[in-house]
Amino acid sequence: NKQVIFKGYIDGVPKETDLEIKVTKTELKLPHKGSETILVKNLYLSCDPYMRGRMRDFHGSYIPPFVPAQVLEGFGVSKVIDSDHPNFKPGDFISGFTGWEQYSFIKKTEQLRKIQPDDDIPLSFHVGLLGMPGFTAYAGFYEVCSPRKGEYVFVSAASGAVGQLVGQLAKLHGCYVVGSAGSKEKVEILKNKLGFDEAFNYKEESDLDAALKRYFPQGIDIYFDNVGGDMLDAALLNMNIHGRIAVCGMVSQQNLSTPKGIHNLFNLIARRIKMQGFLQSDYLHLYPQFLEHVASNYKQGKILYIEDMNEGLESAPAAFTGLFYGKNIGKQIICVARE
Ligand code: NDP
Repeated sequence: NKQVIFKGYIDGVPKETDLEIKVTKTELKLPHKGSETILVKNLYLSCDPYMRGRMRDFHGSYIPPFVPAQVLEGFGVSKVIDSDHPNFKPGDFISGFTGWEQYSFIKKTEQLRKIQPDDDIPLSFHVGLLGMPGFTAYAGFYEVCSPRKGEYVFVSAASGAVGQLVGQLAKLHGCYVVGSAGSKEKVEILKNKLGFDEAFNYKEESDLDAALKRYFPQGIDIYFDNVGGDMLDAALLNMNIHGRIAVCGMVSQQNLSTPKGIHNLFNLIARRIKMQGFLQSDYLHLYPQFLEHVASNYKQGKILYIEDMNEGLESAPAAFTGLFYGKNIGKQIICVARE
């Protein structure tokens, strides 16, 4: 069984050498009867920025740290090989927490979601468009941003797993949408493929406040924040009265030991802005309606989803660390096996 091992807690930007590929002898046999465990073959593994938070020895967050010298854990799509659980049978496809390895024994089956096979929807979408990142976009946009038709929406890390869907949902809702991303290629994709009204490369802007004023001369009603830091500070200077900021993530701050100060919070009062942090897991009751809405729009060709697929478990360290250099174009996935 090939595995990706988390070597130990880190400071700064994750490096490929913080993870190690190991081959272990594992007997692919379920424990005693009644264990309610399932044995799965992992097909697609999801690389997510939040996993960086689990690489520090800090127990005060919403999810515990990884255990050093153990297999990395994350969202995946897997096929059931053997089952001692009445709800799962061999051949079923599932999505949920699994190990970064070829085969996993899963005991915590309550969190797993069974996938209804659908010829029109790739299995890997269950860690992207129809998985946690897609749901984050859906819950964050509709529940936290309270969008209205015609509003001006700004999305950062806009070409990524979450951002690309936020922008498309906002367009479907009748909003005007601008995205920021970290390369020329990503900006082109946002404008020419994903239907954003405008997009810009934040790395080419020496003054983010001036850039936002250029793209939003009439101000921002909704800022879907995936990055925090300087971009959040600049957005605060450009929000309209009664604007809303959904604080989804702070990928620009994740590798710093002391996050950067935000200077423009006074605008929350002056412009009566609502700024709300959220976790997608608080909205799980909306999952069925999310699946229905997004899958049907995808099938009608109204939503696209861009994936960045790395082949083989060996590519996992590069795929994961690439998130923090913006190497991924779209949702970063590791394909361990196709079936
Ligand atoms: P992405 O697919 O967008 O990948 C990460 C991207 O972040 C990179 O491609 C890069 O894009 C950008 N990035 C990396 N470093 C920096 C930096 N220093 N400054 C600015 N941008 C940077 O990731 P996701 O879509 O999966 O996640 C987006 C955000 O949403 C993350 O902050 C994540 O933690 C958060 N999140 C929150 C959830 C919640 O429940 N609240 C759930 C899921 C995700 P670029 O080239 O454009 O710089």
